[in-house]
Amino acid sequence: MSVKQVLVVAAAITALAAAEGRDPTSQAQIEPAFEKAPHELTAQPSARAPAATLPRALAKLLDWFRAHVQWRRAARPRAPGYNSPFSLFRQEHSEVRIPVKPAGSDTDRPVPPLNDEEKRIIIGRGTERPFSGKYWDHFEPGLYACRQCGTALYSSKSKFRSECGWPSFDDEIPGAVRRRPDPDGLRTEITCTACGGHLGHVFKGERITPKNVRHCVNSASLTFRPPGQHSPEKSGREEAIFAGGCFWGVEHHLEQVDGVIGVTSGYTGGRVANPTYEQVCTGKTHHAEAVRVVFDPRRVTYERVARVFFEIHDPAQLNRQGPDVGTQYRSAVFYADRGQKETAEKLIAELRANGYEVVTELLPASEFFPAEDYHQNYLATHPARPTCHIRTPRFDVPAKR
Ligand SMILES: [Zn+2]
Repeated sequence: MSVKQVLVVAAAITALAAAEGRDPTSQAQIEPAFEKAPHELTAQPSARAPAATLPRALAKLLDWFRAHVQWRRAARPRAPGYNSPFSLFRQEHSEVRIPVKPAGSDTDRPVPPLNDEEKRIIIGRGTERPFSGKYWDHFEPGLYACRQCGTALYSSKSKFRSECGWPSFDDEIPGAVRRRPDPDGLRTEITCTACGGHLGHVFKGERITPKNVRHCVNSASLTFRPPGQHSPEKSGREEAIFAGGCFWGVEHHLEQVDGVIGVTSGYTGGRVANPTYEQVCTGKTHHAEAVRVVFDPRRVTYERVARVFFEIHDPAQLNRQGPDVGTQYRSAVFYADRGQKETAEKLIAELRANGYEVVTELLPASEFFPAEDYHQNYLATHPARPTCHIRTPRFDVPAKR
């Protein structure tokens, strides 16, 4: 049973625990689900795991839960909903999605030192009183940057009126915001990827905007910049999307490239919006498992990232990658502009000249849907590392005949 199948089972167990009214974010509460799991899971079509392999899978899973901070409750939960006037809910806990790496030269702009109230919020993870900050009712075009380090975090385009008393955004600048379980055991805290400063919390499922996400951010954690003053969206960040089999391996390798700020596993190139892992696994949505890479073009070129991509997966395998078979595992480059397209074409031509029968698809980037939180940053935290993505020199070494 592959690690991936184990996680399908994990999802099923989580659903099972939730369906039985247990808190799926509590290890103590989910453990009883393991006892019943083999019986219950065989009746679940989504689990797709033969009954005989389940005991082994479950042992593996239990280890995984024990190893995962996402399942560890750090403190007794406080009353939920304090930050959410819209609904009470069990916030699913996300793992750290973006590796901790300095965002480098985004911080070139001098930032004044923090005052005591800002320190209390940004460093002490505090919360400002609602309707008291300077940006909850602020709607002008521009960027909201980290008060502590100056990295751009949110565009005014994603700011919306929530009337909750704190600035609300339904999207972040890719790679700029990190998620982690809040010590209260219920919410997901958001911090600045570059400096780790506390921003606030992120909530899903309130149905206020079509994206169905609300970043609830302290004004004190932000500093507003009108257009023209700072545009790291253009100068300091560029995005690339690659598909090369199971996204865990692709993510794992690409996040280690110098100059890469963040990576996200997800789905793209398919026919439905917001697909789930289970839907993508059927192959019917035609999504590819893909990885969105945010990099600083002043530190690493698109070509360099793309070269790594072609060496960590086998671009000559059609609709599969190693043991993973299906169109969701196809090899593809989703280019953002003509420059990326031409670079990818050049690299494919180089590989073909070296004797590799490249089948990689070259497609314009379409909407990218981040995968479920349990897929993010998976290999970094899991000891059992699948070996289907191994760096193999292809640009310097001709194909074997
Ligand atoms: Zn920061």
